[in-house]
Amino acid sequence: MKHGLLAAAISVVVLTVGWLGNRGDVAERADDVHYHAAFLVVTDDGVADFSAPAFMHLKPCTEDAHAELTPEEEQRERIHLHDGNGTVAHVHREGVRWSELFTTLQYVFPGPPYLYRDGAAVAESTFTPVQIDDRVLIVATTNDPTPELVAEWTAQVPTIEDIRAAESVSEGCGS
Ligand SMILES: [Zn+2]
Ligand SMILES: [Zn+2]
Repeated sequence: MKHGLLAAAISVVVLTVGWLGNRGDVAERADDVHYHAAFLVVTDDGVADFSAPAFMHLKPCTEDAHAELTPEEEQRERIHLHDGNGTVAHVHREGVRWSELFTTLQYVFPGPPYLYRDGAAVAESTFTPVQIDDRVLIVATTNDPTPELVAEWTAQVPTIEDIRAAESVSEGCGS
C-alpha cells in the first residue's frame, strides 16, 4: 500500500515535470505554427488590392526561434502575406486576430469594418481569431451592404482550393 502511494507520488512528479517541459517546447517552437486563411476586403472603392510588393513579407519566416525580434518584426511574423498573393494570409503564431493582419499591412479601414464568415456577420468583427483555413469577408463601406451584396462578395472570397494552391507555391516560408 505504502509502495503504491510512493509510486503514485512519483508519477505525479513525473507528469508535472513532463507537462512543464512540454509547455517550454510549445513556447520555443512558436515558429512551428503555420497555417493559412483567405480574406477579401471591400470598401466604397471596391475590392481592396493587397497584392503589391509593399504588402509582402519578403524575408523568409524566422527559422531561429530564439532570434531577437523587435516588436514590429514580431507583429509582422504573426500574420503576413507572401508571394504576391494579396488574399491568402500566412499565420505563424497562436491566437492571431484578423485585425493584426491590417496592423502588419499598415492598412487603415476607411470606416468601421464588419467581418462576415460564411455570409454571417461576426460580432467581434476583425478581432475574431483567424481560424485554420478561415475564409472571411471584411466590409468597410459607407452604407450597410444588402444581403445580396454580402452574398456576392462572399462568393469572391478565395476558396479552400485557392488556399491549397497558395500553400503549394509559397517559397517564402517553406510551406
Ligand atoms: Zn505559409
Ligand atoms: Zn510566412
